[in-house]
Amino acid sequence: MSDRVQAWIGLGSNLENPLEQLARAVSGLATLPDTTLLGQSAFYRSQPMGPQDQPDFVNGVVLLETSLPAETLLDHLQALEQAHGRVRLRHWGPRTLDLDLLLYGNQTVATTRLTVPHPGVTERDFVLRPMLDIDPQLTLPDGRSCQGLLTQCTDNGLKRLQPSVTDGLATPPHPH
Ligand code: AMP
Repeated sequence: MSDRVQAWIGLGSNLENPLEQLARAVSGLATLPDTTLLGQSAFYRSQPMGPQDQPDFVNGVVLLETSLPAETLLDHLQALEQAHGRVRLRHWGPRTLDLDLLLYGNQTVATTRLTVPHPGVTERDFVLRPMLDIDPQLTLPDGRSCQGLLTQCTDNGLKRLQPSVTDGLATPPHPH
C-alpha cells in the first residue's frame, strides 16, 4: 500500500442543474477506491471565464485523502466527468462537469496528461476561495499562501451560495 496523500479537487459546472451535478460529483469522489473525503467547501457562483454568452458556473472544492497515484486519480476524475454526460462544446465553454486535480500533496507533476499544481490555482478566485474554506492556512508546494494569492485574483463576481439558493442556476433544458 502506498502512502496516503491529500488531494485537492476542483469542481465546476454550468449546465444541466449545476448544483445537482456538483452534489453528485462529491458523492462520486467520496466513494472512490482507497480514498476518504476529508473536507468539502461551500459552493460558489462565478461568472464564466472566456465566452460570456453562457450560464454562470457553480464551483466548489473537495479535499480527499487517497493512496491512488496521481494519474490513476485523474483517470477516475475523467470517468466521473464522462459519467455525468460531460458536454464540452468549446474551450472555456459550457460543460456539465469539470474536475481538476488542483494539488496532490506537496508534489509537482509535469507529464503530458497532468500538470500539478493545476496552473489555474494561483489565479482563480473560484478555486482559491473554496480551498480556503477547508484550510485557511493552505500553502502551495512552493510556499505561497493561498490567502495571499486570492487578494491578487481577478474578480469573477464570486457569490457564496447558501444550500437553499437555487434561483437562476437551473439552465434551460437542451434539445436531445
Ligand atoms: P480541461 O477539461 O480544460 O480541465 O482539460 C482537461 C485536460 O487537461 C485533460 O486532457 C487532462 O489530461 C489535462 N490536465 C492536465 N493537468 C490536469 C490537472 N491537474 N487536472 C485535470 N486535468 C489536467
